[in-house]
Amino acid sequence: MIELQHVCVDFSGAGSSATRAVDDVSLHIKAGEIFGIVGTSGAGKSTLLRTLNALQRPSTGSVTINGTRISDLQGVALRTARQRIGMIFQHFSLMHTRTVAQNVAFSLKAAGWERAKIAPRVAEILDLVGLTDKANRYPVQLSGGQKQRVGIARAIANHPDVLLCDEPTSALDLETSATILALLKEINARLGITIVLITHEMNVIKTICDRVAVMSGGKVVEMGEVFDIFAHP
Ligand code: ADP
Ligand code: ADP
Repeated sequence: MIELQHVCVDFSGAGSSATRAVDDVSLHIKAGEIFGIVGTSGAGKSTLLRTLNALQRPSTGSVTINGTRISDLQGVALRTARQRIGMIFQHFSLMHTRTVAQNVAFSLKAAGWERAKIAPRVAEILDLVGLTDKANRYPVQLSGGQKQRVGIARAIANHPDVLLCDEPTSALDLETSATILALLKEINARLGITIVLITHEMNVIKTICDRVAVMSGGKVVEMGEVFDIFAHP
């Protein structure tokens, strides 16, 4: 479903310094799986994740999603392809001057939904993430876990095939993290959305991922079933 072939990302620095943030990564992520990418800070996880929705272009190599080479798309074709890919962030990235419902509705408007269909879909998705009673609150009135539920609601409202998660629980306490991971698992199981998640927390990988790639210095240094990679000494 998601195919990365020999992806490299180079950042040119000042003078002669340059960083190869992603170094020749090839991956095949299957439809319906929860795929984790783990590694220490600076390993290249975030840069790699951003190539999946073309927020970051590979310097060389290609990214293909459902047969479309997203790494080559521009303009309308890219915007259309991106509508099939939701994303959530460590610090939630909500719009602070809009209510919970308006945050979710905004993504549907951007995706071209008919006005009359937006309110019922917002209500449905807020019910799914357990925020019906917070629809008219502003982000500042919510806990961290509730903010991430809004982030998830916004990301999945338009029925994406893929949900990209950038350190989704790193700003949350352990207990709240567990509830967010359970919600992601439920979304994967009930809606069949493929999840690609990056984290520096091994616990997150062990809790919900089916397969994992371990990154170091821009390279994938190990990959396989979570059980096989972490269950044995
Ligand atoms: P991780 O997500 O694993 O912490 P990143 O993908 O953020 O790693 O970063 C990988 C490397 O690329 C780091 O050395 C980082 O400093 C560098 N890097 C990331 N983004 C940029 C950028 N926009 N410009 C220059 N260097 C960058
Ligand atoms: P705008 O004037 O920008 O359309 P609105 O205040 O009308 O802003 O809200 C935007 C959208 O958010 C509405 O069209 C509606 O679909 C949705 N919305 C607002 N409040 C709720 C709510 N309590 N439950 C479900 N959807 C809501």
